[in-house]
Amino acid sequence: MNRVFIKTYGCQMNERDSEAVACKLQERGYEIVKNEEVADVVLLNTCSVRDQAEQKAIGKAGHLSKRKRKNQKFIFGIMGCMAQNRGEELFDLLPDLDLVVGTQKFHRVPEYLDEITEEHTLKPKNIFNLDTEEFSQEEIREHVYTQVAKVSAFVSIMQGCNMKCSFCIVPKTRGKERYRSIDSIEVEVQDLVDRGVREITLLGQIVNAYGRGSIPRKNGKSPFVQLLERLNKIDGLYRIRFTSPHPTSFGDDLIECYNNLSKLCEYAHLPMQSGSDKILKLMNRPYSRMRFLEITKKLRNSHPDMRLSTDVILGFPGENEDDYALTKSAFQEAGFEMAFIFKYSERSGTPAVNFVDSVPQEIKEERNQNLLSLLKNQSFVANKLSINRSFEVLVEGKAKRGVDKMVGRTRCNRRVVFKGTEKMNGELLNILIKDVTSTTLLGDISAQ
Ligand code: SF4
Repeated sequence: MNRVFIKTYGCQMNERDSEAVACKLQERGYEIVKNEEVADVVLLNTCSVRDQAEQKAIGKAGHLSKRKRKNQKFIFGIMGCMAQNRGEELFDLLPDLDLVVGTQKFHRVPEYLDEITEEHTLKPKNIFNLDTEEFSQEEIREHVYTQVAKVSAFVSIMQGCNMKCSFCIVPKTRGKERYRSIDSIEVEVQDLVDRGVREITLLGQIVNAYGRGSIPRKNGKSPFVQLLERLNKIDGLYRIRFTSPHPTSFGDDLIECYNNLSKLCEYAHLPMQSGSDKILKLMNRPYSRMRFLEITKKLRNSHPDMRLSTDVILGFPGENEDDYALTKSAFQEAGFEMAFIFKYSERSGTPAVNFVDSVPQEIKEERNQNLLSLLKNQSFVANKLSINRSFEVLVEGKAKRGVDKMVGRTRCNRRVVFKGTEKMNGELLNILIKDVTSTTLLGDISAQ
């Protein structure tokens, strides 16, 4: 009864949480398996960002219920955001469910499974815990190491979000901001580097607000900048990235880091959501279009190779043609080379659910296509500037397509595909760019 399969839905933070759960289970003698069919236990680590994401996980759990009805010894559980959001209602929907674990209880999963498996020999029992737990943010720190050396790793530095964006369910599912200490993060990163990791991505729902109100500013520097400075000193670490930040926490001290800290990659993700002040207000995003564009300009000026990406929501309630035009022109002015563009859909449990969803689906689709084509064009134009230039590429593995093709990333987060061998995995190579598409740089290593 000790083979566990974990299925993860959603974002990088969920991936990271699942990895930490897997480590804790291994420590307790459970085996993590890649094949769901052979597992004695299946855990779903869920996402609540959209209703659709929850429906997907509920559909999957329905299949697991059927499996359980055929084999009462089989155990299945729901963890993470949907568990937190839907709570006990999940037992009404799925009466065979064994385990519901909230976002502050991931580290308790092994003891709960022990309890359930022991109970199984007596009588079945289900466990439900969505409580808050002090210091639970410090529990997401172990990593799974496989035989193939891991080059890049995610490091969770905080949990929760104190903002109240009207479209977002995260404050409900993840709770208030809770930060790990700088010392503890440094120990984790040092350990990763000792095991061969060369690139880390710091994770948090509002990552650049790290430590606010809890760790004092020092010499005008925010706690997040203090953390970056500390990590930048670690020998053997080549690259530092972070996601997902908030525009309001992009102070000048952070922008200067792109110039001052050699390991901080010249790439910033800056969620704009809308270019219209009216819509930003309705979204409860506390910045203006002007302030947002000012930050993008400063970021561009901080490093010549800076690349910027963003998130945009199209068709938010109240968005008219003028608002969309403002979003489009801001997108153009910022020159985003990468973007996640979403069509707004109602999310139950968020304040925006009470707004009238006034934008017809076909208009949302039209704006979506229009902005995607602008993105494609901007990205292609920016990529073309890379032709005949050499970039430092961290090799990540085999490319999905093409024999002998490897893939890696530049510091500015552009994907580079080139002819190579698997021996290059994890290496930092200088690669000459010979051609580009809107999404990929095509490199030639022999041309060096
Ligand atoms: S800052 Fe991000 S995580 Fe927090 S409420 Fe807004 S969109 Fe959600």
